[in-house]
Amino acid sequence: MTAEVRFQAIHHRFGTFTALHRVDLTIAPGEFIVLLGPSGCGKTTLLSILGGFVTPTQGKVLINGKDMTHVPPRGRPTTTMFQDYALFPHMSLRDNVAFGLRMRGVAKTPRRDRAQEMLDMVGLGDKAERRPHELSGGQRQRVALARALAVSPDVLLLDEPLGALDLKLRRQMQDELKAIQRRVGTTFVHVTHDQEEAMAVADRIVVMNQGRIEHCGTPEEVYLHPVSLFSAGFMGEMNRIPVTAKGTGADSPLGALPLPVASGGGVLCLRPENIGFAGELALGPARLVDTGFFGTHHRCHFAPLSAPDLRLVAHLPQGAVLEPGREVQLYASNPVILPHEAAA
Ligand code: ATP
Repeated sequence: MTAEVRFQAIHHRFGTFTALHRVDLTIAPGEFIVLLGPSGCGKTTLLSILGGFVTPTQGKVLINGKDMTHVPPRGRPTTTMFQDYALFPHMSLRDNVAFGLRMRGVAKTPRRDRAQEMLDMVGLGDKAERRPHELSGGQRQRVALARALAVSPDVLLLDEPLGALDLKLRRQMQDELKAIQRRVGTTFVHVTHDQEEAMAVADRIVVMNQGRIEHCGTPEEVYLHPVSLFSAGFMGEMNRIPVTAKGTGADSPLGALPLPVASGGGVLCLRPENIGFAGELALGPARLVDTGFFGTHHRCHFAPLSAPDLRLVAHLPQGAVLEPGREVQLYASNPVILPHEAAA
């Protein structure tokens, strides 16, 4: 019902193009892992290597310690759920969910019982006789999940499973997906380029860039403590201020800052929600250029008086009194300094 997955030095080329560069990753049994990154970074290739649809040029895939690198998909304890769901239109939901069990020779009664159990789990138990076209997009997605889990895979692979859903439904299904994963305890490996989705569902996020793992950690780790400018920027909006070492502190367009900087200099990274009227780091006086209300916060652009061409984006709480043109003292918290070299 669950398994450990180990990618060992996975290297993959398509012709002369290298899609994966010696990727090492261990996924614990029952973990919900998200492979996150921009289009073309190699997420789907890594997932396909785990599912057995692509054989890596070099390296090994181990599932529960067993070398599966050259085992075809049907010989692996994995199931893949694709974005288009691939439900059979002429079959009832029950028969759709039971399909994999029928292929495995499971008898009719236990097959129907298991399909009903899975439909109950995804909240569609009363619709077992319906056909896929009678369902909404979100319901179809749940049937696909029930079908994938009916065969009790040790590892479920999900390739952009919520990509076809509108934003509201997508957020709702993220919560359901996580709840179902917790209930069944199966190892989930989920591919997306949506960082909010990654944060909503993952135990650990694997940030990928150009065929390499940039960062791997809990949502908090990758968001709050990014290890590279790429990872910092991909996880959400980030203010970037170049800094150089000066004495024991830093020099910057905002003036001297009491921050330790390596001799090669770096980039001070500040999340918009960490800039405001209080905080551990004084950024000096700035003028409010413009502001917009986003429901949960006001999104404001500030021009520091010491660097009027620079723009700092800040998310200020509801109710903040703001008039463009006004001068304020800005502060920041959670400053992170990253090296220039880490830029992609
Ligand atoms: P997306 O989010 O767009 O699906 P991805 O991160 O999943 O992107 P992959 O599909 O893994 O990316 O592709 C990684 C790289 O390998 C891309 O540059 C892609 O063009 C290339 N690639 C993928 N499959 C093939 C193939 N069969 N032949 C040649 N190049 C390929």
